[in-house]
Amino acid sequence: MAQDRKKVLVLGAGYAGLQTITKLQKLISAEDAEVTLINKNDYHYESTWLHEASAGTINYEELLYPIETAIDNSKVNFVKAEVTKIDRNAKKVETDSGIYDFDILVVALGFISETFGIEGMKDYAFQIENVLTSRKLSRHIEDKFANYASSKEKDENDLAILVGGAGFTGIEFLGELVTRIPELCNKYGVDQDKVRITCVEAAPKMLPMFSDELVNYAVSFLEDRGVEFKIATPIVAANEKGFVVKVDDKEQQLEANTAVWAAGVRGSELMEESFEGVKRGRIVNESDLTIKGYDDIFVIGDCSAFIPEGEERPLPTTAQIAMQQGEATAKNIANILNGNPTDKFEYIDRGTVCSLGAHDGVGVVFGKDIAGKKASFMKKIIDTRAIYKIGGFGLAFKKGKF
Ligand code: NAD
Repeated sequence: MAQDRKKVLVLGAGYAGLQTITKLQKLISAEDAEVTLINKNDYHYESTWLHEASAGTINYEELLYPIETAIDNSKVNFVKAEVTKIDRNAKKVETDSGIYDFDILVVALGFISETFGIEGMKDYAFQIENVLTSRKLSRHIEDKFANYASSKEKDENDLAILVGGAGFTGIEFLGELVTRIPELCNKYGVDQDKVRITCVEAAPKMLPMFSDELVNYAVSFLEDRGVEFKIATPIVAANEKGFVVKVDDKEQQLEANTAVWAAGVRGSELMEESFEGVKRGRIVNESDLTIKGYDDIFVIGDCSAFIPEGEERPLPTTAQIAMQQGEATAKNIANILNGNPTDKFEYIDRGTVCSLGAHDGVGVVFGKDIAGKKASFMKKIIDTRAIYKIGGFGLAFKKGKF
């Protein structure tokens, strides 16, 4: 009987993969399938809090919890391994610690930073990509303040920070930075007026999904706390001095000893190697989140490009969408195991909030613009709900934001 069990393999324990697992373990019994979750770390991290750990307003350890705390070992086998190859036709996944075959595959390998081939960007700029990059960045910022305070010949660029991109990541990171900088100035006896934080954005408008009122609120909030914005200013290179930007068709060097690239993400690099028709690590889904020609391979989260019916553009890559896709995929796996047809994925947009530090923010919730403390409160609800949905009440109580 056990040999007849279908093998379900889930790759990645981010929001999409872990939500698939925690929902699936509620829907099936141990006899229904052999479920394996593969992830390169033995922890899950809140990727929506990376901007906080990157600025140093929270410790990187606060992002993490052990995957084992969320899974039911009687139904799910967890393997800590890095996926190196997906062979969709042979139905095999290679990892750095063995080969796994599957009947049903869920690819939920998440995002990495996208530097669009900009010269020097990978070598000279910090990325906000994972726990390690965030830890590196927050330590570097503090090191520069410590170095400035202790040096006889002061390098003013130790107190200069360049942030590339004014999307959600850039703005949320700036919101944390303006909290962290006064703390660092205090700690190292640095005059705050000497600190320069510059955000460089290629587009003429920031956060285009928000109304002008919300964008103005966010910009004023950050400018009042010392951030300078350079909009319609593309970054064309990064080097040891900072960023090179283009202004009126002429190149200009912006100097800082900390340069952060927060201007783009893409799905896992394994996507191009494993599937056809992949753009920036994302593949267009069928309506049930499988992919064309493979009704037993689901691709979800930041590797998916789901185009809702009647629309032309795919949904953006957000934790909210990843988690809804995870739940829908778990239900569809249960459907397949029970011999039922799969259901179409339908996204429910509950809104989006962009935090501005721990106590402020802007957003649209159920179609209504909100700003200030209300937005910050909503963001804390969203963050805590995400933990609750995956790990239940106990984990939400321990790791949540209230
Ligand atoms: P993004 O692609 O949304 O924004 C990147 C920004 O960088 C854009 O404004 C773009 O114009 C700018 N940019 C690109 N190239 C540039 C260049 N060469 N020079 C200067 N500026 C340049 O990326 P993101 O902010 O990392 O967000 C990624 C995804 O994650 C999005 O779908 C976003 O909605 C989501 N996200 C959501 C939240 C939230 O809901 N609070 C938080 C973070 C990220």
